[in-house]
Amino acid sequence: SLSPHSPAVRTTCPYCGVGCGILAAVDRQGDATISGDPAHPANFGRLCSKGSALGETLSLDQRLLHPMFRRADGSLARTGWDTALAKVANGLRTIVDRDGPNAIAFYLSGQLLTEDYYVANKLIKGFLGSSNVDTNSRLCMASSVAGHRRAFGADVVPGIYRDLDEADLIVLVGSNAAWCHPVLYQRIIAAKKERGTRLVVIDPRHTATAAAADLFLPIASGMDTALFCGLLAYLADTRALNDSYIAEYTSGFADVLARAREIAGDAAAAASAGGLDLGEVARFFELFARTERVVTCYSQGVNQSAQGTDKVNAIINVHLATGRLGRPGMGPFSLTGQPNAMGGREVGGLANQLAAHMGFSPSETDRVRRFWNAPRMAASEGLKAVDMFEAIERGTIKALWVMATNPAVSLPRAGAFRAALKKLELFIVSETTLHNDTVDAGAHVLLPAAAWGEKDGTVTNSERRISRQRAFLPRPGEAQPDWWIVSEVAQRLGFESAFAYRKPADVFREHAALSAFENDGRRAFDLGGLAALADDDYDQLDAVMWPVKAGVEPGEARFFGAGAFFTSDRRGRFIAPGHPGVRAATSDAFPLRLNTGRLRDQWHTMTRSGKSPRLGAHSPEPMVDVHPDDASRTGISDGGFAKVTTPHGGAVFRVCVRSGQQRGSIFAPIHWSYSTAADACVGALAMAENDPLSGQPELKATPARVEPL
Ligand code: SF4
Repeated sequence: SLSPHSPAVRTTCPYCGVGCGILAAVDRQGDATISGDPAHPANFGRLCSKGSALGETLSLDQRLLHPMFRRADGSLARTGWDTALAKVANGLRTIVDRDGPNAIAFYLSGQLLTEDYYVANKLIKGFLGSSNVDTNSRLCMASSVAGHRRAFGADVVPGIYRDLDEADLIVLVGSNAAWCHPVLYQRIIAAKKERGTRLVVIDPRHTATAAAADLFLPIASGMDTALFCGLLAYLADTRALNDSYIAEYTSGFADVLARAREIAGDAAAAASAGGLDLGEVARFFELFARTERVVTCYSQGVNQSAQGTDKVNAIINVHLATGRLGRPGMGPFSLTGQPNAMGGREVGGLANQLAAHMGFSPSETDRVRRFWNAPRMAASEGLKAVDMFEAIERGTIKALWVMATNPAVSLPRAGAFRAALKKLELFIVSETTLHNDTVDAGAHVLLPAAAWGEKDGTVTNSERRISRQRAFLPRPGEAQPDWWIVSEVAQRLGFESAFAYRKPADVFREHAALSAFENDGRRAFDLGGLAALADDDYDQLDAVMWPVKAGVEPGEARFFGAGAFFTSDRRGRFIAPGHPGVRAATSDAFPLRLNTGRLRDQWHTMTRSGKSPRLGAHSPEPMVDVHPDDASRTGISDGGFAKVTTPHGGAVFRVCVRSGQQRGSIFAPIHWSYSTAADACVGALAMAENDPLSGQPELKATPARVEPL
């Protein structure tokens, strides 16, 4: 156990994908002091409002401290670990034996540590035989994964954060980085001041980020692909292509350029399709064409779309066409939402991936099977998040284990999926909190998980940097780390030797060894150099960027500056996008579009950030942003209340009339839920229309109407 006088412990922030290093010190009263770690290369000591307020979120108020089960009358009762673990193991075994492995599913989270994620994925995919394991990262960056795999042959972010310091032009697409990736945004603003870096922001809303832009393009929802196709055509027309890079390292350019011309026509057509001013679009195109060092960052405005993968590839296309990737100050850059979205991708936490970035080809499946000595290896892709919850609605999935996430709030059609959870025969939740909407939707078994500050492991940030999260508080009650909980269940299922981990370092070494197993250099993700890490070295591990190959000194690798893609012919692929637009049409009944997103000072469903009064003060209640014209047309006024209705549900918000809100579009934050603000669960309003390639749902453009209350 930790002494209450512990010196500062170096750890990593549990919120966004920037992955800031933190120093946490605990005083004699047990109160934690949080500060930025000056030595951490993601933040060099900086923290945003959420990170700095972490010390206010550590109380045990509302903590789940003991295993619990639900009685027949619906109440929760305390039980012991042995009973709870046996209930889970026996329940899973019964359902797999009776209905087959596909009747079970795990729903994981970008909040989990890599070690937790690895063990959960190994159990279900290798030992229970189901690939129905997906994660809330599906709602976050699955389109980037699919776009990377199409263009690069692997899920690789080519650049590093330092590129933001070294760029002359930074383009932010669908990203309110000032609120959602604040420390990176500070880095961008520093580059503006010190280097004169120009900033272009492409977003339907005039956000805090847009306020600092040299050029703001208020694009219409769904039209990013048209804009970037227009840019590709412009680059060709103005001879701003990198012909030698295209010829030497890529394939498919001529066909994709022809397709881009079809989609965008010319700059004027691209501008009008995007609802933009032609002169402003021309300025952007010209700036992009004449600036060699360009980083294009994109986030949920691109990913959370039924055409998210095409948007990602339309952005990557212009970087391939100019050879602007893998060199200082340039490249397409996916900003991941969660602290360990990347780690989840690395261990195969998505239903369409195996561990260590491998897919479900027969050779990859066999490789993982042999490495794990797995008795019941899943052989094909499983159900992605929305499909998984639809299978629960239909009754074909009978057992669900949710870890570290709150899908009853965050999924699209959340109200319907919340109700569907009642159909489960076995509903297990690993959580830190005693009550949230998912637990209260009828979980049968509650397993108390260790929280941030109480557990050890690793996370990977947006630039592929693996950082340690370290414990600085004792574990309260009977809470245990998730890797331990899953391993104990696995052992009760008879898989003792494969899950005989005694500490997170054991799991990490195995994860690293698998990444290097039969890796002939064709797999980007390689941690072979960490596979034999001693326990002490794991404890002391400095933040390190992958790849970390055996026998090679780790560094800060950029990818693809000189080709060497991970496709079969080692060439980067230009990808032709489908026709741009948004999936569901507006109508007389639903004439507006509901856009959803984050606020500056809250995180997900507020189970942690909601504990800080300081954070709560920034935006204390759920608001809907409405353009003045839409407000006057619908008779609602600033500061009043309005009901937002979509085909999937209704919710009540206080109205904020903002000229920065686009006409025809309203915006509401994702954080509130049934339990924190009755009738303000935005997930319940959103449609469940998925990108066919990535499975990521469209969370930015649900047809809606707004009425005064
Ligand atoms: Fe944490 Fe992200 Fe803020 Fe850094 S920028 S302190 S990782 S929330």
